[in-house]
Amino acid sequence: MIRDNVLEVRRGIESACFKAKRDPDTVKLVAVSKNRSIEEIKEASLAGITAFGENRVQEALSKYEAKLPIQWHMVGHLQTNKVKEAVKIFDLIQSVDSLRLAQEIDKQAAGINKIQEILLEVKTSAEKTKFGLPPDELPGFLKAARELKNISVQGLMTIAPLVDDPQEARPYFRILKELKNRVDPEFILSMGMTGDFQVAIEEGADIVRVGRAIFEGKI
Ligand SMILES: *Cc1c(COP(=O)(O)O)cnc(C)c1O
Repeated sequence: MIRDNVLEVRRGIESACFKAKRDPDTVKLVAVSKNRSIEEIKEASLAGITAFGENRVQEALSKYEAKLPIQWHMVGHLQTNKVKEAVKIFDLIQSVDSLRLAQEIDKQAAGINKIQEILLEVKTSAEKTKFGLPPDELPGFLKAARELKNISVQGLMTIAPLVDDPQEARPYFRILKELKNRVDPEFILSMGMTGDFQVAIEEGADIVRVGRAIFEGKI
């Protein structure tokens, strides 16, 4: 049952918060619902989940049409030719990984009179296949992004490498936190997934993105 899974994840969030002396209300749980049906999303929504993450614009659009009282977050790689549709439906685009993409979002958001909230996806590990802005390009990006009036940079996002022991993900979360402290201490951090969200919370995650633990049960 999705309801039980959500409770289990919430317990995990609470225990990580207890350990880190944090208020559980300061951690936002986003259910990553890529490849899940609208019925599953409804069930999670009834269990109290208010924000859902998708990684493909087309799939998100069809789910958006169901008009559920929920927020949609983009968490996957976004192509510039999909931005026009993306700005219509997403409350937060978590996966902005280039200035070119930010400029296109700014342009399309201006077209519909919207200030699009975004997170910058940062590459905190050396894995070749992964998207994300290299940390050394962050200051330059932020300087240029300040000129873009129709985007609002809210913080940073990262995906840690898949590891067997969640403790091994800790250094990547730490890198993101240190970057944030350097560029803007007010920034929020989106980090942590099914396998490592408790460690991410200990390291300061404001948003955790959880898929399998919610829709498939404890792994
Ligand atoms: C799929 C996905 C998640 C959720 O992963 P789980 O391991 O299922 O919790 C989180 N973030 C991103 C960017 C994803 O693509």
